[in-house]
Amino acid sequence: MARFPVIDPSTEQVLGEFPEAGEAEVADAVSALRVGQADWAALGAEARAGYLVDLAKVLRARRDDIAATMSREMGKPLTEALAEVDKGAAQALLLASQGPGWLADETVALETRTAVVRAVPRGVVAAITPWNFPLWQALRSLMPALLAGNTCALKPAPQGTMTALALRRAFEEAQLPRGVLRVLTGGAATGEALVRAPVDVVVFTGSQSAGKRVAAVAAEGLKTCVLEMGGSDPFVVLADADLDLAVRLATEGRFRNAGQICISAKRFFVEQPIAAAFRDRFAKAAAKLRVGDALDPATQMGPLVTQQQRERLQAQVGASIAAGARVLTGGRALERKGWFFAPTVLDHVTPDMPVMREETFGPVAPLMAVRDAAEAVRLANAGDFGLGATVVGGARAPEVAAQLQAGLVGVNGLVTSDVRFPFGGVKGSGLGRELGRDGVRALCDLRVLLK
Ligand code: NAD
Repeated sequence: MARFPVIDPSTEQVLGEFPEAGEAEVADAVSALRVGQADWAALGAEARAGYLVDLAKVLRARRDDIAATMSREMGKPLTEALAEVDKGAAQALLLASQGPGWLADETVALETRTAVVRAVPRGVVAAITPWNFPLWQALRSLMPALLAGNTCALKPAPQGTMTALALRRAFEEAQLPRGVLRVLTGGAATGEALVRAPVDVVVFTGSQSAGKRVAAVAAEGLKTCVLEMGGSDPFVVLADADLDLAVRLATEGRFRNAGQICISAKRFFVEQPIAAAFRDRFAKAAAKLRVGDALDPATQMGPLVTQQQRERLQAQVGASIAAGARVLTGGRALERKGWFFAPTVLDHVTPDMPVMREETFGPVAPLMAVRDAAEAVRLANAGDFGLGATVVGGARAPEVAAQLQAGLVGVNGLVTSDVRFPFGGVKGSGLGRELGRDGVRALCDLRVLLK
């Protein structure tokens, strides 16, 4: 079997080599999952939820190891990695307590009869995940699918391989029955083999280009797809915003995980009266971030995940500077071992520049001063993405937020994902929703019994 390396982005050292699952391994895994599915479904939702409770305990017990694995393989600062494990455990408990109720039968009283709507599992779910939240993205796709009574094949991104294997061990320690979960390591070819295999649902999280390909392959087999793809979230600052709050949220929203988050704030629109003050304070806050090795507890921002990712970002920034963008801070790769890029703030940008038109998956914040909220909304809604958005401001903020075309909008706070409500994008950012009652029931067939 071919193998691929996982490389520490902070040090450029090879951490290990892992097998690239081919068609035969994928087929074996899917047929084992098909066999295991009936017993798993027969357990009932409450019993399945019990495994999530046990998983939460194991995640808490293994917290330090799993977080260090994540930091090493994809460059997330240790503090953020620890928070990701904590989130996974807390969300597992929430889903375990609320999820079974979402799967209960619904009755609809008709004139002379009753319709009973029963949510039954779809069968085998393929979860294809990215590297940027290697634990949480996997849990976000797996936990609802498992709770609903499906068995699951997880195909993590290559740079999230070690975390995915640690998660598999955690499920094993939680005594998840055999035949319920398989992890298939590898890249795009493994993912595509999984989509072609006889699975019933594909839950994909990743880039728009890969998502389109997954949707096309899934369509050939008439398989349901949930697609969570890229974003270029607007961050709107109104003139009456609390400036301290706006700068704090912008700094966290753009530079957390080195800007490699689907719902990172990626385009900044600031009403004219407050634009200069916001610009100066935001650029100062960005320049002060401590950039360093992901495992150093003092690090606030780590490296980018791969050399290619850094080259792509550098090209987007370089082309935008050549077209007239001004660098307020950063704008370049750091000259040291590892794939570091300086926290960057740009102004004098225009909507046609790459940093505004394309998704920038790295620590780059382009700022535009706007005449008023209407102009901010028009510019924010331009383009193909519609995942998240943030509005910071006074009384007008909720009304401005309601005009933004996005799956999630935060008012005076950043957006997040949570098992208690649906997550996903509009336009080119996604199809369907994960999480919440709607997300869990979307992984079921709805069967109606008329009595
Ligand atoms: P990617 O699209 O390169 O890879 C995502 C996953 O898909 C990986 O496991 C990869 O191996 C697999 N894959 C790639 N091509 C495939 C194919 N043809 N068939 C089947 N599988 C295939 O994305 P990435 O670089 O890992 O992650 C970054 C992207 O993910 C960004 O665009 C980001 O916005 C997006 N993302 C979206 C969300 C969301 O919830 N909407 C969350 C996190 C990341």
